[in-house]
Formats: sequence, C-alpha cells, structure tokens
Amino acid sequence: MTDVAIKKEIIKKAEGFILGIIAQHGKDISQFTDMEKTLLQQDIEAFVAGVFNAVAVAKTEQSRNSTSNLEGASAKVICADCGSNMKLRTTTKYPNKDGSPRLFWGCSKYPECKGTHSAHQNSGKPMGNPANKETKDWRVKAHDVFDEFWQKYNYSRKESYNLLNTIMGTTHETGHIAKFNMDQCKLLIKKLKAYTSKEQYVYKGR
Ligand SMILES: [Zn+2]
Repeated sequence: MTDVAIKKEIIKKAEGFILGIIAQHGKDISQFTDMEKTLLQQDIEAFVAGVFNAVAVAKTEQSRNSTSNLEGASAKVICADCGSNMKLRTTTKYPNKDGSPRLFWGCSKYPECKGTHSAHQNSGKPMGNPANKETKDWRVKAHDVFDEFWQKYNYSRKESYNLLNTIMGTTHETGHIAKFNMDQCKLLIKKLKAYTSKEQYVYKGR
C-alpha cells in the first residue's frame, strides 16, 4: 500500500467516524453542555486511537509487501495445486539461520489453497518448478528408497548420485530428486527396486 493509499484509507475512516459523531450528538458544538463536551472529547480520543490503529495495520500490510523490490518478485510462479498465480511472501514461523524472515512463494488463493513453493533467500527467485502435493509425496518416497539403497550397499554420496544420473539419464544439474516430476520419481523407485531384487549393486560410478 502506498502512502497516498494509506492517507486515503485514514481519511475515509475519519469521515465515517465524524459523521457518526455528528449524528450521535445531533447539534451545533456551541450548544454542547460540559458533559457533552467531555463525551465528545472521549469520542475524539477514540477516533485518534482508531486512526493510529489503522496506520499500524496499513504499515504491517506495507512491510508484508516490501518483498516487491526483490528480483524474484517479478517472476511468474504458478501454483501447482490450483493453477493460480503465486506471490512472494515472508514468514517468521520458519526463519532463516540469521533470524531473518524466510521468503517463500504462497498461492494467491490462500487460505482456500495452501500451495507453497520455496524461494532463493537472496533473490526471491523460485527454486525449480513448483510441485503439487502428489509430486512432493512421490519425491519423499523416492528419497526414502534412494537413501535406503545407498546405505544398504554402502555407496558414498558421490557414487550414489553418479548411479542416479546413470540410471535416470540426468546430469549433475538435473539429477536431484527435489527437481524430479512424478514420473521420474516412480521410475527411480522402480529401477532401484530392480537393482535390489537382482542384487545388481556392483555398479561403482567413480
Ligand atoms: Zn493454489
């Protein structure tokens, strides 16, 4: 929200409040009794408190939108769950290691849609392609099978990723389960299970 928009919002609230006061008292201020003047004073104080509250609310909204100066904020990210646009947001619920609020992409239809996607913390750019819940679940499954596999056969991290790239036809850049789509996850699980069942674990991809 811009400063001009905030001012307009306050003026709008002020007008509503003043009209309310006038209607309530229904006469000219010169005709007010001492009691009425005290009551008016209280009304004005309530009004000012209302304005300050409105400013505080507007400022919170403004800081929430301050991520818009980030490079990634101009990126177009589509929610994998419902197809709506996603917005770059911050959360203090899962802060960064330095305590700063975490940047993330959230569905513009929140709270109806709870789709989220991770963002690079320096630029705000989306990390890879947003995945829907089903894809995320398959990635977790694929990761579990993969971890179990290389632990069972005592592969190093490097060896296991070389194996993954060999059987999946991926590269150092693309060979990450976090970037896999559902079909790739299913294929990886199938291939790893085939390896395990045939005891074809002699592969050493150094
Ligand atoms: Zn969504």
